[in-house]
Amino acid sequence: MGSKVYFGSVAVSKPSAPSTLPGKLMRILGKIDLPALCSGDWVPIKMHLGGGLGYSTVHPLFVRVIVDAVRAAGGRPVVTEGSFEAVADAAKHGYTMETVGCPIVAAGGVFNSHVAEKKAGFLTYDKARIYGLLQDAKCLINLSHVKGHGVCAYGGACKNIAMGCVDPKTRSKIHALQGGIDWDACKCVYCGKCAAACDRRAIRIDRAKESLNINFHDCRFCRHCVLACPGHALSMNTGTSYRNFQEGMAITTRLVLEHFAPERLLHINLMTNITMFCDCWGITTPNLVPDIGLTASQDIVAIEQATLDLIKAENFIPGSLIGDAELGPGKHLLEKVHGKDPFIQVDALERHGLGSRRYELEEVF
Ligand code: SF4
Ligand code: SF4
Repeated sequence: MGSKVYFGSVAVSKPSAPSTLPGKLMRILGKIDLPALCSGDWVPIKMHLGGGLGYSTVHPLFVRVIVDAVRAAGGRPVVTEGSFEAVADAAKHGYTMETVGCPIVAAGGVFNSHVAEKKAGFLTYDKARIYGLLQDAKCLINLSHVKGHGVCAYGGACKNIAMGCVDPKTRSKIHALQGGIDWDACKCVYCGKCAAACDRRAIRIDRAKESLNINFHDCRFCRHCVLACPGHALSMNTGTSYRNFQEGMAITTRLVLEHFAPERLLHINLMTNITMFCDCWGITTPNLVPDIGLTASQDIVAIEQATLDLIKAENFIPGSLIGDAELGPGKHLLEKVHGKDPFIQVDALERHGLGSRRYELEEVF
């Protein structure tokens, strides 16, 4: 017997609202002891509020269903995101107090400065600065949109916590674990496309001096410049360091979640619009696989394992990769897409004592 993971399929058995995914979410929430989880307390619902022209983050209707369930259980819901800038732009992506049914607040305040510092102690990752709201609250609902990720292949519940609950400096430190960026001057034609693709303005090009410098303090290792370069002059010097990135994410997740009693946590993974890259890119690309549904569990390790297990390689939709990208070798579809084993983070989460990879899947119809 493993940890309980509830599953609601996107498949609809009859044309009625209760048989659709939001209806199944309502019934799954009815199986969780929400009063024990949240009654009488503020309940942060941590999610990604979208960015740029992306349109594949969690639909506000699902957020509303959770907000209503929390309120019915005696909790005081508040939707939260890691940075004030994302909260300020939330309405552009359909998230308002009117649509989600509760306040939307920045977990670190207006200046992203309300943080609690904790020791990380892993290679160059010395300390994590966790947004204060996540360390002031007594319970947490971790609502994640499942998608691919350039560095760890998979972004779900762990990524929503590790990258979304810490300040930008900490995110950079976690990203720095994946290695740096190498520049091959012989292949560079100084076109400037890499600098134009960099939203952190981290790249300085001086054609006269035939130089290109990357300020790794500002760099968030998103790989946009690498992909923008027509001559393949830029490359991530990753080696196996993507493993360190996933370890860094697991450590951060532990640092955030150890504050909460296990029964006061709930993780929900929405498996719709599973795209190649994470929502931080501010774009939406075609779905890699048909929509699957959602999982929910109080065990973050079990939900990540179950979610990855539900993404089947044979369901890959041709034409859903960006540009001329092709599937490579690998056991899991997301490993074929990104060349990295997505289970490293799940294994690390379990090693850090956050739960069990063994799970019992209960489908809710
Ligand atoms: S995009 Fe590539 S070729 Fe163009 S300046 Fe940057 S590194 Fe050089
Ligand atoms: S990896 Fe991203 S942040 Fe870093 S230099 Fe390239 S585009 Fe800029």
